[in-house]
Amino acid sequence: MAFLYDPHVHTSVGSRCSKVLPEEAVQRFAKMGYAGIFITEHFFNNPSTTVPFREIPWEEAIEQYCRPYEMAKAEGEKVGLQVFFGFENSYQGNDILTYGLGKDWLKAHPEIMDMPIRQYCEFARAEGGFVVHAHPFREAKYIDLIRLMPRSVDAVEILNGSCSDFQNDRAAEYARNYGLAVTGGSDYHGSKPLLCAIDSPVRFGTVADFCEAVRCGDATPVVAIDGRESGTVSE
Ligand SMILES: [Zn+2]
Ligand SMILES: [Zn+2]
Repeated sequence: MAFLYDPHVHTSVGSRCSKVLPEEAVQRFAKMGYAGIFITEHFFNNPSTTVPFREIPWEEAIEQYCRPYEMAKAEGEKVGLQVFFGFENSYQGNDILTYGLGKDWLKAHPEIMDMPIRQYCEFARAEGGFVVHAHPFREAKYIDLIRLMPRSVDAVEILNGSCSDFQNDRAAEYARNYGLAVTGGSDYHGSKPLLCAIDSPVRFGTVADFCEAVRCGDATPVVAIDGRESGTVSE
C-alpha cells in the first residue's frame, strides 16, 4: 500500500444520516493511516442534507453546504490528513458523486437542482467535473430502480462500504463490461465495518490528480479494513 484515500465520506454537519463530526472523521482516518479523504455530503436533492436550502438564498445555502468540508480541512492541517471536496447528488436512490467542481461553481449553477440525472451528469462533465456513479447495484428501500448510465459517467464505484460483496461484484462486472474507470470508498457515516479506499502509488496534490489517477487506472480500489466478520467497527 502506498497512499490511501477515501473518496466518499459523510459528516453529521452536512448529512443528517451521519454520526460523526468533521473533526472526528479526520482524526479517525488519520489514525487508520489514510493519506486523505474527500468530504462528499448529501446534496440538496437528498432529504438527508442538513442544509435548509429552500429557506435561505442559494449562495448562503452553498456556504453552509461547504462548511463541513472546511471544518475537516482545518482539522486535517493539524493532524496531517489531506482533505478534498466533492458532493453527492441523489435521484430517487441513484447517487452521483462529483469531483473537481467546487464552491464557486455550485454558487453559479442553481439550475442543477432542476436537472434530471443524465442531464446533470452530462452538464457537470462538460463543465470539467469528474462524475462517478456511486454504488450502482445497491438494493435498498429508498432505491426505486437499478439504473445505469454507462455513457454519462466517468467512473463507477465498485467498492462501497455500505454494499454487500454481491452488489460490489456486480458493479465491478458492469465497469469491466463497459470499459469504465473504477473507484471505491467507504461511504463513511461514522461507523462502517467495511472501510474502502483508493490506493495510489503517489500522493495527490489536488482533486484533479485523483480524477486523473482514477481515469488512467493508476489508483486501485481496495478494502482497507474489513471488520465485518469480527464485528469490529472503525470507531
Ligand atoms: Zn447518508
Ligand atoms: Zn454517500
